[in-house]
Amino acid sequence: DTVVLWFRQDLRIHDLPALHAASKDGRQILPIYILDEDAPGDWKIGGASRWWLHHSLTALATDIESLGGKLIFRRGNSLSILRELCEANNAEAIYCSRRYEPWAAKEENTLHESFKNDEITFKRFPGALLHEPGTVMTQGGGPFKVFTPFWRACRKNETPRPIEKTAANWSDCSASDVLDDWELLPRNPDWAAQWSEYWKPGETGARERLHAFLDDTVSRYADERDLPAVDATSRMSAHLHHGEISPRQIWAMCEQKRLELPHSDTAINKFQAELGWREFSYHLLHFFPHIPESPFKENFAQFPWQANETYLQAWQQGQTGYPIVDAGMRELWATGIMHNRVRMVVASFLCKHLLQHWRSGEDWFWDTLVDADLASNGCSWQWVAGSGADAAPYFRIFNPVTQGEKFDKQGEYVRRWVPEISDLPNKYLHKPWEAPDDILEQAGIVLGQQYPAPIVDHREARQAALDAYEHIRLSS
Ligand code: FAD
Repeated sequence: DTVVLWFRQDLRIHDLPALHAASKDGRQILPIYILDEDAPGDWKIGGASRWWLHHSLTALATDIESLGGKLIFRRGNSLSILRELCEANNAEAIYCSRRYEPWAAKEENTLHESFKNDEITFKRFPGALLHEPGTVMTQGGGPFKVFTPFWRACRKNETPRPIEKTAANWSDCSASDVLDDWELLPRNPDWAAQWSEYWKPGETGARERLHAFLDDTVSRYADERDLPAVDATSRMSAHLHHGEISPRQIWAMCEQKRLELPHSDTAINKFQAELGWREFSYHLLHFFPHIPESPFKENFAQFPWQANETYLQAWQQGQTGYPIVDAGMRELWATGIMHNRVRMVVASFLCKHLLQHWRSGEDWFWDTLVDADLASNGCSWQWVAGSGADAAPYFRIFNPVTQGEKFDKQGEYVRRWVPEISDLPNKYLHKPWEAPDDILEQAGIVLGQQYPAPIVDHREARQAALDAYEHIRLSS
């Protein structure tokens, strides 16, 4: 008997419930990954994620090969490819991990219905989350809209443990595309040429990264996680997004660490709560599938955004004249990631100082982040913009200068990514326009030449943002 194992956003072989179930009774596992460029509609995989996907698939194929199997690559419509594969191999079932993006959930329902008529079992399994949407609800039976009670309720439920071991009988007998032909990697220019220095996509890379974090860093997490110059966070987000590691595995390893490092309780709890934000985002996406595209708080549909291509480009290119914002945007372009604190600052700057729609920022992140994730990205942008569930209030406007001075006190982060102002003393590093002429001269800077003058005045921009907010507050 043969079961098709359809890999999607679960690019691992450990703690994979779909694989575990498929492997029962010694059935042959026929593993496939399908690149369907049409199904996601507007949410086609972004550029940075394509780079990651290429390397993650390479790693998965190598892992499966070392166990005697062969991962099949096919491009096109999932339904027809799966049907053809089942027919050619006499497969009785298709197993996959569940996804939560609205388009993917719809696709699962279509497949389920179609295969019912073919007498092929189509089954989807959990595995990407600690708590499946719908299993943690308010006392009234509705979805939570606020994080803290949601997470409290999750903590009351038991956290599932990872699967210990799966012995699979892999098949290696079907024709496959050549992954390189998919051209997922950038060329001309190869903007990701240095990325292998930062990232090791794949299950082994995910586990190595987690071990390094738990062994060396986690005890500093609670105190230093907001400092972008310091390597104090896990950097697990892209691994989690691609399903190279499961949150259950991470959770279990945290619990083991807790026993070894009793003084790290607070840090581990804090880290686990961040995993909780990921759960919350998926939960919101499941119950409010419009979140990536339209405001959760309906009155924000009337918000007077002021589309401005010049502002948007200055932001994208890290040329706003606000060093912490520019550092973040350049880190993103250079590495495919941006520190969480800085994501909040740059996102707030785009929506509030520049009055650009949060969707234009969401789109840019979608294309440039290696961890671009429909749930976390959509919810986080709405959180910053003030239009989301449990969002930061709109009138709380981050001051990019004080954010820089607070979280990058010594200026290490800004100097790393905005080297043209690195000779400025700390006192002016986050506000070069306030530096006296002789200090600017000593640092070799003429504002507007090596580095831009601020694109907007903070105080004026803040007032304009508050006025815009007043517009929707009064009209709702
Ligand atoms: P850690 O601090 O080590 O956290 C551990 C894990 O918890 C992360 O890997 C991630 O899976 C999860 N997590 C942490 N913070 C959040 C959060 N606020 N929301 C949801 N999950 C969280 N995260 C993404 O994974 N994909 C995105 O596309 C994404 N877009 C964002 C956009 C904006 C505007 C903002 C403000 C945040 C966004 N985040 C996104 C959340 C967060 O910035 C990243 O998850 C985090 O920076 C990843 O670094 P880390 O793995 O070192 O995090």
